[in-house]
Amino acid sequence: MELTYTSAQDAFRAEARAWLEAHVPKQPLASFDTKERFEQHRVWEHELNAAGFAMVPWPKEYGGRGADLLEWLIFEEEYYRAGAPGRVNQNGIFLLGPTIMEFGTKEQKARYLPKMASSEEVWAQGWSEPNAGSDMAAIQATAIRDGDEFVLNGQKTWASRGAYAHWLFGMFRTDPDSQRHRGLSFLLVPLAAPGVTVRPIEKLNHKAAFAEIFFDDARVPVSSLLGAEGEGWSVAMATAGFERGLMLRSPARFQNTAAKLVALYKENADRCDASLRRTVVECWAAAESYTLETYRTVSRLLEGGKIGAEASLNKIFWSELDLRMHEAALEILGHRAELLPAAPSAEGVGEWLDGYLFALSGPIYAGTNEIQRNVIAERLLGLPRG
Ligand SMILES: Cc1cc2nc3c(=O)[nH]c(=O)nc-3n(C[C@H](O)[C@H](O)[C@H](O)COP(=O)(O)OP(=O)(O)OC[C@H]3O[C@@H](n4cnc5c(N)ncnc54)[C@H](O)[C@@H]3O)c2cc1C
Repeated sequence: MELTYTSAQDAFRAEARAWLEAHVPKQPLASFDTKERFEQHRVWEHELNAAGFAMVPWPKEYGGRGADLLEWLIFEEEYYRAGAPGRVNQNGIFLLGPTIMEFGTKEQKARYLPKMASSEEVWAQGWSEPNAGSDMAAIQATAIRDGDEFVLNGQKTWASRGAYAHWLFGMFRTDPDSQRHRGLSFLLVPLAAPGVTVRPIEKLNHKAAFAEIFFDDARVPVSSLLGAEGEGWSVAMATAGFERGLMLRSPARFQNTAAKLVALYKENADRCDASLRRTVVECWAAAESYTLETYRTVSRLLEGGKIGAEASLNKIFWSELDLRMHEAALEILGHRAELLPAAPSAEGVGEWLDGYLFALSGPIYAGTNEIQRNVIAERLLGLPRG
């Protein structure tokens, strides 16, 4: 493996760094859990897109700049270095976009990708149902063919950013007599369509991070099908590969957290138990290992490889590392960790508590870590089903 950057990659990094330094909002944007903040994030995404930075590895005609995945990793490093806003359309650009690139028709690419790159259309992921979470093959929502349309019925839940999103990509049973993984199809559904009801789900902080979505004889054209009818499971597994194995959580995110953890330790070293020093070093080293492993994955993909079941190893690694780093930060801060950043005498406490609460969900979303361990046992190690 070549561990140095080319002069073209260095030039791209310099260009991205200069643009981000000049454009990243000086006042960080708050999370996208209210309509107003969601719209602020969309304005930021429009700006990124106009500069050609929304999704650098996509072809120019679809809103990218025709870069490769190595340049995407470089862009991610610069993006986190600059403290730029979270990506409101992450389900679109990081999960659905690459899936459309692999399975979509030319018409679908032209129809969906540019508006995704600009966040004119923000996407939600519609896989989970009240009785189909870990066991996704238990999906009951149906999409029954009626001429040139599918008629949708059923319910999805836990759709992140679904309260304000415009479109949903989801799995529906198109063959009502089918069982489990067979007879499912991957559909692209406008949330404003008649017969679609979006009900925000409030978190404990009263913000609507999720939505449950109901379908009552909602109709979508057959052209909404991504991949072949009845082959939705393999399309969805490709999406899950991008989610767990590469794009949803790029290494820069964890290198950034690790650097902040090291700084926090240095500020508080005189008050800390000496054993924390070792934990902090291990976290930093793990973030670097994850980075090198991701460079290896990208090199493999650039040589024509595909993301496979090893994405499950990746997902366990990044979600557990994130939690470990936040737990270490709370230990460093001691009882002060419970202060909200706006509280008096909260100087230096930062956003660690908020980050910790989100990190707790890492082992659950994108498929729980127990399920990832089952995948590793069965598909990578060839062990018998439990
Ligand atoms: C922050 C967050 C964002 C999310 N965003 C979305 C989204 O945008 N779209 C979407 O569709 N869903 C989303 N989800 C839902 C998520 O995909 C599910 O929560 C997850 O798949 C688990 O399903 P469940 O909640 O129904 O739990 P269950 O499947 O009921 O699992 C409960 C527990 O049992 C364990 N378990 C279940 N089956 C097995 C097994 N066979 N072997 C071992 N252990 C098992 C699980 O690991 C878990 O610990 C999100 C969840 C979170 C927390």
